[in-house]
Amino acid sequence: MSLQAISDFIYHQNNFLIATHYNPDADTIGSALALYHALKLLGKNPVVLCKDKTPKDCQFLPSIGDFINLDTLKSLNISDHVLIIVDCNHINRVTRDENEQFLFNNMKKIVIDHHEIVNPYGDIAWIDPSVPSTSMMIYELIKTLNVEVNKDIAVCLYAGLCIDTGNFRHDNTNAQSLIVASELISKGVNPSKVYRYLFESWSIQKFRLFKETIQTLEEESGIAILTVTKQMLERNGCDDEDSGNFVDFPKKSVSIKVSVLLKEIDKDKYRVSIRSKEDINVAQIAMSYGGGGHKNAAGCTIEGKIDYIKKDLFRKIKNIL
Ligand code: 5GP
Ligand code: MN
Repeated sequence: MSLQAISDFIYHQNNFLIATHYNPDADTIGSALALYHALKLLGKNPVVLCKDKTPKDCQFLPSIGDFINLDTLKSLNISDHVLIIVDCNHINRVTRDENEQFLFNNMKKIVIDHHEIVNPYGDIAWIDPSVPSTSMMIYELIKTLNVEVNKDIAVCLYAGLCIDTGNFRHDNTNAQSLIVASELISKGVNPSKVYRYLFESWSIQKFRLFKETIQTLEEESGIAILTVTKQMLERNGCDDEDSGNFVDFPKKSVSIKVSVLLKEIDKDKYRVSIRSKEDINVAQIAMSYGGGGHKNAAGCTIEGKIDYIKKDLFRKIKNIL
């Protein structure tokens, strides 16, 4: 229903602003770019917006250079654009700054996402947490719009699917994700090339940071906690995005059921990534701190002394194990 409603609505509009979430990943970026390419092929006028710098591992995606940031957006006349938010379901995931959220106040809003919803948002929302990646939903939308999926579109969609399923290894991998992958590969995607861009392109600095991060591991009752401090980033010549996906590694152990990465972003303030196996729902843990995400991959921001945060996380996670 929402898919057809979105497709019909898009047909009758011309100007679109497609927005990703902040701290972007290959699913939000790939979804936005695929839709951007498709809307252009439909003769529409789309703009792609990302508040943050686009991730290093996404630089191979066709037209990645077309993303604008909020400063550029402020200089454009976007009052008659339709806002399409992808891979998140509230404007507060596009930007946390309430003064910037005002920019979007008068726009019609479409939401396309696969995260659990906290508050309903948007004029038309298509939200399906059972779908492994937002890019799979965008694939359905592009087909419903009757746009031919070309190689550029396919690469963008495949990147989103590949990152959100951990290259088809996470618990969200299902028959449909492999069917879509196969269809995208038949459009010209080279799966091993995309895998290398997304998973085997670390700088040596990032690799050294990884080595140091693994040494911070604390482990208790099947729960692992890793920590990355600002000092560790500086010492290794790394930036904010370099610790992405370190949280996946403790899960290599059969004994570790939940893995957490604490990344210092300010004094006594941490970005928290949580991953789990099988039926352990860590979205509810993230939500208890004001964050969110999926059953097996969620995140939040926590303020406080690190020792207290770790204790609190161990306690809360032990309660659900
Ligand atoms: P990551 O740990 O990679 O930052 O995030 C894991 C998943 O949780 C992603 O799907 C991401 O969109 C979601 N997520 C991370 N942080 C937050 C947050 O603060 N709020 C919400 N609602 N979702 C988050
Ligand atoms: Mn996603």
